[in-house]
Amino acid sequence: MTCEPHVDAVRPRCVQGSCNGPDSFTALAWSTSLSSSTSPASSTSLPSSTSLAMSTPFTASAAPASCAAKASPTRAAPRDPAADRPTVRLVGAGPGDPDLLTLRAARTLAAADVVLCDDLVDRRVLELVRDGARVLHVGKRGGRASTDQAFIHRVMIREARRGQRVVRLKGGDPFVFGRGGEERDALRAAGIAVEVVPGLTAGIAAPAAIGISVTDRRHAAGVAFVTGHARDGGRGPAWDVLARSGLTLVIYMGVARCTAVADALIAGGLSPQTPAAAIGSAHTPRQRHLTGSLGRLAADVEQAGIASPAILVVGDVARGADALASPCGRPAASADAAPSTASGRPTGGHAVAA
Ligand code: SAH
Repeated sequence: MTCEPHVDAVRPRCVQGSCNGPDSFTALAWSTSLSSSTSPASSTSLPSSTSLAMSTPFTASAAPASCAAKASPTRAAPRDPAADRPTVRLVGAGPGDPDLLTLRAARTLAAADVVLCDDLVDRRVLELVRDGARVLHVGKRGGRASTDQAFIHRVMIREARRGQRVVRLKGGDPFVFGRGGEERDALRAAGIAVEVVPGLTAGIAAPAAIGISVTDRRHAAGVAFVTGHARDGGRGPAWDVLARSGLTLVIYMGVARCTAVADALIAGGLSPQTPAAAIGSAHTPRQRHLTGSLGRLAADVEQAGIASPAILVVGDVARGADALASPCGRPAASADAAPSTASGRPTGGHAVAA
């Protein structure tokens, strides 16, 4: 199904990201005021056939002063070093908290004229977009209406050819389950230069938020990043091979198929007692996680209400989870006061941190 992206003209206030709970998150994210010259009171829907050449000129002005005061990388919008060649920058937005952006990502975002933004990008990251730049929400979430991929390619190519500084902003890392490879190929085929700004992928950042080291050498020889969501008509991962691999399994997009994935791994030879963890909305104010066993993972995930986006971790490294981990992956204030429940007990997952 195809839907139209909506376009926001964002006037960033550059409020530093903080984890004050979902309500303040919402207020923070959309306390940005909309540019009256480009948008009506709220987002503007554009038919896919409509030219994205908007009526407002997009100036290459410096980042707003309030922004400069918050983050030195955004002090000024640097001149585009590749101005003589149409360029699109594929930028990783990390898992959520803007603090986890790379400096280069923050700088690139602050200099952009047009930002094509995925659903998974934390709204607080958009506070770094400069005043007057256009933000196009072109999300693609499983099971929901999504923007046609070819349309995204067309917009990036057209805007880059117009001389706009185009950023394609993706959650996590643009090349990890992010269609970054497809977009790179489409851009190159159109003669557009591609620059990649890597980001912190959820498969590392989400386990880390609760203290799991995915390659702890005492427990695993390595890690496999796999998708729990097979491509339409395509084959999913070889779960039986993965079950015998001795690798930590980090499963993206696995919540909806958690039962099938766990069953396949157990059928492939993994013990139902294998430690497992699930981390939802890591590094956001909505972070939730649980630890338990593979055999109970699907039931525990459902009971805890952990929904997409979430990372599943299967393997002995999950024993390292800190049951007291707080929302946003920051140390819990009272961590040494309460008893630890991160014992790696094989059953009875428990949800922590609403
Ligand atoms: N490019 C992204 C992954 C995109 S695929 C990256 O590198 O992280 C989307 C999947 O990523 C989600 O279904 C979920 O499995 C995972 N994911 C993304 N952000 C997440 C987050 N904040 N917490 C937990 N999982 C997340």
